[in-house]
Amino acid sequence: MSPKHEHLKKKIREIKNYPTAGISFKDITPLLEDKQSFREAVEGIANFFKEKQVDKIVGIESRGFLFASSVAYLLNTGVVMVRKKDKLPSQKILREHSLEYGNGSLEMHTDSVVPGEKIVVIDDVLATGGTAEAAIKLTEQLGGQIVGTGFLIELPLGGREKLKQYSIYSLIQY
Ligand code: AMP
Repeated sequence: MSPKHEHLKKKIREIKNYPTAGISFKDITPLLEDKQSFREAVEGIANFFKEKQVDKIVGIESRGFLFASSVAYLLNTGVVMVRKKDKLPSQKILREHSLEYGNGSLEMHTDSVVPGEKIVVIDDVLATGGTAEAAIKLTEQLGGQIVGTGFLIELPLGGREKLKQYSIYSLIQY
């Protein structure tokens, strides 16, 4: 972790008590809308993985897709969509999980990962780690090998502990 990208916090809006009471929601829309900040964020995450052998990026719906696909483009890899329940059309596997402000169910197509492929899981925010863990488990269920995980934002809510057996890279920490 380095404070190199700390200034990007100016582009992250905090919305108190959204979507439920007690949550400080990190609204990344100003960062996405600013071309320099968006580029810095995507390149920052991609740089961390560029020396590693990566076959595919797994992105988590929906804000995770924005970073996962951009990083995949830079690393010249494919990108896999982990989607909320009932959105994927073909044969799939499902995993239920909890997240900072509720519960969710994520799915992945069974042919999205080939056994042995080296995978990086990317999302916008690491909070409790439940969401990323679900995407990791789906990937592993199909035989994928997790090279690491990448996030724009890391919150001190236990995610790092939950994912401690994996390499975690976050660009900005709170
Ligand atoms: P968690 O499973 O608790 O690590 O939560 C991570 C997921 O929920 C990510 O997909 C985020 O988009 C979303 N999320 C959780 N907490 C926040 C937050 N405080 N601000 C913005 N997004 C969040």
